Amino acid sequence: EITSAELETWLRASAAELKAHADELTALDSAIGDADHGTNMARGFVAVLDKLDAAGDDVPGIQPLLKSVGMTLISKVGGASGSLYGTLFLDMGKAAPAATEVSVTDFAAIVAAGVAGVVGRGHAVVGDKTMIDALDPAVTALTDAAASGASAAEATRAAAEAATLGRDSTEPLVARKGRASYLGERSAGHLDPGAASSAILLQTLADTLA
Ligand code: ADP
Ligand code: MG
Ligand code: MG
Repeated sequence: EITSAELETWLRASAAELKAHADELTALDSAIGDADHGTNMARGFVAVLDKLDAAGDDVPGIQPLLKSVGMTLISKVGGASGSLYGTLFLDMGKAAPAATEVSVTDFAAIVAAGVAGVVGRGHAVVGDKTMIDALDPAVTALTDAAASGASAAEATRAAAEAATLGRDSTEPLVARKGRASYLGERSAGHLDPGAASSAILLQTLADTLA
């Protein structure tokens, strides 16, 4: 089982991790974008934290928790990543139950729905050098692990490992979506910032559920 309290712990830890890695994410974005990905993500997750704090001690269901994160990111983060990560959480929320816990299998389906939402919005496929290069293999790993009866800790560990490999796979690629695609061949030789932030989110999830 995965509970909304655990997901809230994950979101709080993600805010701290994204803040800690903000300069690194911005440096990646300065190489192939407009040098704002770290500040975009850190700002968005500070707003998520503020909203969690304002909600007090009531433990929300998984659906309202994830939807609220999605709406916050859409309204507080400018740029491509605001609407894409906003869609990720919003569509995860739409696929989630009102209940405060879900099975690992159901959680894998929830994450898959969120990533499908990102693809629906941004039309990126694996190999386009975007966050999808980290998110898509993470969903596959999470789904496969859940199907073979893995615990939440094992399944999210597998997802985080897949996301990290996916992030690393972006380095030699030429970007075909987003701002980095304006650089053409010059986008090769750098990690994609959004794939790096996705790997951070999944690593933080695995660490939270370990
Ligand atoms: P912006 O490019 O508007 O400044 P950010 O720098 O915050 O926004 O985010 C850039 C990241 O967004 C990229 O590294 C990439 O991973 C992701 N991204 C951009 N366009 C797309 C897309 N169409 N589909 C998926 N991800 C995308
Ligand atoms: Mg940018
Ligand atoms: Mg920007």
